[in-house]
Amino acid sequence: MRKIVIAGNWKMYKDLEDVRAFCKAIASSLKTIDLGKILPILAPAYPFLALMQRELSDTPVQVAAQDVSAHAEGAFTGEVSAAMLSSLGLEYSIVGHSERRAMHNESNEIVREKLLLLMDNSLRPILCVGETLEQRDADDTKKVILEQLNGCLRNVSLYNADDIMIAYEPVWAIGTGRTATGEQAQEVHRIIRTWLMHSYNEALADEIPILYGGSVKPDNIAGLLAMPDIDGGLIGGASLKADQYLQMINIALESRK
Ligand code: PEP
Repeated sequence: MRKIVIAGNWKMYKDLEDVRAFCKAIASSLKTIDLGKILPILAPAYPFLALMQRELSDTPVQVAAQDVSAHAEGAFTGEVSAAMLSSLGLEYSIVGHSERRAMHNESNEIVREKLLLLMDNSLRPILCVGETLEQRDADDTKKVILEQLNGCLRNVSLYNADDIMIAYEPVWAIGTGRTATGEQAQEVHRIIRTWLMHSYNEALADEIPILYGGSVKPDNIAGLLAMPDIDGGLIGGASLKADQYLQMINIALESRK
């Protein structure tokens, strides 16, 4: 059975003291979690990656980056390379988040370059895909998701399920308080899993985690996790509060009993 992933994307929130306080608040509760069933991930801003790794070193939490440069090395002021992330011992990075696509003009091709650099450096990309409200209203959801998958994963070899995670994040549900229903999300997750099956193979398609993101919170996570192809959440706002993050982990654990 696929593990449930509870991944927090902290975006540009929390300073040093906030990060410390959050880690302290969750560390003791998380030490006892059954790793067989759940994978907690947190993605703080770059300056706090190493601090969080230290603070959570005796918990099962994996620390992730929120993004990576599309360049391997060089005169790119302000950017952080996949090799740098790897040198910290990180195993995960989000890539292709809709905020990066919309505000930094990241095309599928750029996302693909980032993804390849992550994989070359033994990091596992959490690849975000998702349609806007106009695209959904125009009945283009499937077309958009397939374009994003075909573009971001063009000629990308995947050998095992640990190579990647995919996060379906409908843009209209991110930070809006408006969540896709379990059924709406499941429909797209099935499209993604079927695409993986046709593009790679059935075993990989069965094992690659597909997360849902978009206003996930303690109130709605159980309904989403009840869907057969939803393997966890990529969570913004609700992951910023230690009590809510822990609550969602506990609900996830309950859902696999
Ligand atoms: C996100 O940032 O990926 C996200 C889904 O945010 P929120 O949970 O706040 O909608």
